[in-house]
Amino acid sequence: MSSPSADKQFGQHFLINQGVIDRIVRSVATLNRDSGGTLIEIGPGPGALTKELLALEWPLIAIELDPRMVEFLEHEHASKISQGKLKIISQDALAVDWNRDDFENAYSICGNLPYNVGTAIIFSLLEKNQKANGFCFMLQKEVVQRFMAKPRCKDYGVPSIMLQLLCDIGEHFWVQPGSFNPPPKVQSGVFSFCRKAKLINERLNPFHPQSEYFEFNKFVKRAFQSRRKMLRKVFPDLKESPRGTQRPEELSPEEWWELWELIK
Ligand code: SAH
Repeated sequence: MSSPSADKQFGQHFLINQGVIDRIVRSVATLNRDSGGTLIEIGPGPGALTKELLALEWPLIAIELDPRMVEFLEHEHASKISQGKLKIISQDALAVDWNRDDFENAYSICGNLPYNVGTAIIFSLLEKNQKANGFCFMLQKEVVQRFMAKPRCKDYGVPSIMLQLLCDIGEHFWVQPGSFNPPPKVQSGVFSFCRKAKLINERLNPFHPQSEYFEFNKFVKRAFQSRRKMLRKVFPDLKESPRGTQRPEELSPEEWWELWELIK
């Protein structure tokens, strides 16, 4: 059976650079070194990364949207599947129920994500998947930069603040378009992150019974809709406060939470 060709509809750019594949696998290997749990790969495609991830000898579950890829992987890895070392779920990663029994010990998640839905998939995991705590993803370079950006940088915004409050960001590296077939128009980046062992406030945890995560998220989004405006224009309560003359991009993630505590 020959491998299915790339389909733009599914955001398919297949990794062909073995050096990059090996480097991703090395990053993934640092994620659940101690727990030895199940690994989830999102968007395996024809399986360039999947094949090397299997070599880690962790139970692997791959979630793939394109049924042609699912069929190909089932054929290619029939023996691993029958040995219970690999399971393939034919579904949209945005629609998966993360409470399924087979995700019981799934602490780490990785993948070369389709660029149009990468950010949505990451937030969906952080907000709906309570078990997973280690992540390694390939995304469009600009998107990775947005997640990692520091205050006062042009890339700094809501994704930077939310991710950096929930997670510690680990290593990253950049990947050239020539490492894929077909090559994408943009550069790519790989980065890892782990949920923080302790949040600055428990109510930031999306799973806390009194979570304020979602309201806080809306609060920050509202401010960044006018990223050039002083905060007192968006939040009249800050008229007299020294914060009032600052702009959204000047506050660190922790200062955003402090501001929320002050005026929520
Ligand atoms: N991991 C492979 C393929 C990456 S391309 C490699 O690196 O070579 C991205 C893959 O994600 C494609 O196979 C695409 O079909 C799949 N995909 C796209 N949207 C998805 C979604 N919402 N859920 C799961 N898989 C998805």
